[in-house]
Amino acid sequence: MSNVRTRALAESSTHEAQRFFVDDRPVSEYFGVNVFDLPKMQLYLSVEAYKAVVDAVGSGAKIEREVADQIALGMKNWAVKMGATHYTHWFQPLTDATAEKHESFSDPVRSAGGGSFENFKGSTLIQQEPDASSFPNGGLRNTFEARGYTAWDPTSPAFIIGKTLCIPTVFVAYTGESLDQKTPHLKSIAAIDKAAVAVCKMFDKNVEKVIPQLGIEQEYFLVDSSLYSARPDLVACGRTLLGHTAAKDQQLEDHYFGAIPSRVMAFMQDFETEAYKLGVHLKTRHNEVAPNQFEFAPIYGEANISSDQNLMMMIIMKAIAEKHHLRVIFHEKPFDGVNGSGKHCNWSLVTNTGVNLLKPGKNPRANLQFLCFFSSVMRGVYEHNHLLMSTVASLNNMYRLGGNEAPPAVLSIFIGETLTRLVESIENMPDGKISSVTDKDVKVRSKMHIVNQIPEILPDNTDRNRTSPFAFTGNRFEFRAVGSSANVASSIYVLNAVVAEQLVRFKSLVTGYMSEGMAETKAMMKVIRQFLLESKKIRFEGNGYSKEWREEAERRGLKSISVPEAFSEYVRKENIRLFENLDIMTAREAEARYEVLNEIYVKKLQIEARVLGDLVTNHVIPTAITFQNSLIKNVKGLKELFPDNYSEMCGMQLRLIEKISGYINSLHDNVHGLVEERKVANKIADIPKRAKAYSEKVFPYMAKIRERADKLEMVIDDELWPLPKYRELQSFR
Ligand code: ADP
Ligand code: MG
Repeated sequence: MSNVRTRALAESSTHEAQRFFVDDRPVSEYFGVNVFDLPKMQLYLSVEAYKAVVDAVGSGAKIEREVADQIALGMKNWAVKMGATHYTHWFQPLTDATAEKHESFSDPVRSAGGGSFENFKGSTLIQQEPDASSFPNGGLRNTFEARGYTAWDPTSPAFIIGKTLCIPTVFVAYTGESLDQKTPHLKSIAAIDKAAVAVCKMFDKNVEKVIPQLGIEQEYFLVDSSLYSARPDLVACGRTLLGHTAAKDQQLEDHYFGAIPSRVMAFMQDFETEAYKLGVHLKTRHNEVAPNQFEFAPIYGEANISSDQNLMMMIIMKAIAEKHHLRVIFHEKPFDGVNGSGKHCNWSLVTNTGVNLLKPGKNPRANLQFLCFFSSVMRGVYEHNHLLMSTVASLNNMYRLGGNEAPPAVLSIFIGETLTRLVESIENMPDGKISSVTDKDVKVRSKMHIVNQIPEILPDNTDRNRTSPFAFTGNRFEFRAVGSSANVASSIYVLNAVVAEQLVRFKSLVTGYMSEGMAETKAMMKVIRQFLLESKKIRFEGNGYSKEWREEAERRGLKSISVPEAFSEYVRKENIRLFENLDIMTAREAEARYEVLNEIYVKKLQIEARVLGDLVTNHVIPTAITFQNSLIKNVKGLKELFPDNYSEMCGMQLRLIEKISGYINSLHDNVHGLVEERKVANKIADIPKRAKAYSEKVFPYMAKIRERADKLEMVIDDELWPLPKYRELQSFR
């Protein structure tokens, strides 16, 4: 018997572990060869041009036209020497994917002799007008003024993938309004820099700059490419819409940190080689909890660059996986019943003087500074916790969040035992004593060393609470609810924004108290205590997966995000004010994002509903009928042979025939219902209202359909079933 599935299985069994990108040199010898970084700029640029880039990166200085020409020339010379034939402005539209439109360096020579030469001007480096009118824009670009521009982001170095020079850019409308994820991210970095430097100056006049740092842990699944191609749902939606769970998946926890399968290992090594060439310090690789789920983490770096590098990695992983006959799945929940994938965003703030502001210090003064920042993060995340969660809201992530394997859908912060004690002792301090917290007040472990006023904090990094969506992990906060397919920029610019807002408030409150004659330390401690008290409700140390917590969170007024309702956070008055005050986004830009998020939600769900309908109608039902026919034939044959007692003999077959008919009819009815509700929803012109209709009317059909199809999968002859099964997708043969 041959069908799509059996052919795919046969093909997949021929796929072997193989290396394609081998470089036996020590990594240090080829690290970053494909990046136009500062050392290469020094080689390829004039002194003036090099300085212009350094100034642009350091202080946001504008790059003049003539200098841009020099930079473009150097960049082109390097790229052409590296074998690049094309260049592209690489940007991040509101789709989560990145976009690129390649152009050739080659230009005709206009003189008599003709021929061609490599050309790349400063103006082309700085700005382009891609014909990108069909990217989602939420109404920011009317058709009569559909122009969108990409503009060079010199803070993120250009790089070569294949034979193309990729230049990181922002993507904005003719009016200057952002149409991408990078623009608000860059603006938020500027906002938090300004707010944080003002606070730092109270401690150290030498601080000129504060840069958010980001380390992104990326989870993903790998599936054999032949099996993947035989699953129209994986191909079109990135996740399985049907499929009975395998008898064995992650119960035994034997995949987690287990030996990496050889095919996967070969893929990882190739991927790592290419990542190093792109200047990405990949540090860890391991098996994750679910079968065929893996993770990598690079070493953290400046947020804008880390975020770009994460997107670069997603691109090259896809390309390299193809060579290995593998498919990378970044979808948050490709398989039911096993863990989904996320991106843990490890975030901290570092000064130009090299101080991590979220690292408890070695002396009271440093600890005081730590507490200023720590309490501002707590306060900001509390104030805008719904907005922050709305940044991780998507159809994909909805399938994962709140499951008992993923961060809960309610935001809370875990800070660990030591910090909890410290925080509580500060909270309980009488007003008059506020500036003199001592070891007696903080009942800390004996190891802790207290120096006069504020104890030295040594948080135990070890007591990690994996059930928390937002955790303090020793020297950083870790936002774990971000989805694995997402561009992290939107979560990070909101995080930067909410913290920046509180830092501004912090400074102004402290200054206010001081102008009333209060000593600086006391004023700071007073505000720290105020922030900690105001944000008390966001702290939770217990099990985030438990039912008790869900109830408790509700009592505390912490809302659980639901999709698509969460999108409306973007247009809430307080949140628009946050974005506007910090110059991160205008009300119109926020409204556009709200539109786009709803639109993407509708489109994705629409595609899923269509694919599910097709799968059921064209695969599942015909297969069920074929199998049912074989049962009918069997019953008829038995009747012919044993006319007297056939009905006893055919008990099972008859029941099964009936059962199958029941499933088929129910499937048919539900698919019909799904299609009808979709038609109704599609007529709703208002996009957010359409999204609501999709979620309330269309979506419920999908689970009902799946349930019946999965039941059929369990009764139908294995040889007939046309779709690769979970047990096949989840292992490497
Ligand atoms: P775990 O899985 O235990 O959370 P990993 O080592 O897998 O830890 O990932 C931790 C990530 O956090 C890495 O990307 C790491 O570079 C990053 N990281 C470590 N310290 C900081 C920091 N101070 N600021 C931002 N990111 C950090
Ligand atoms: Mg982590």
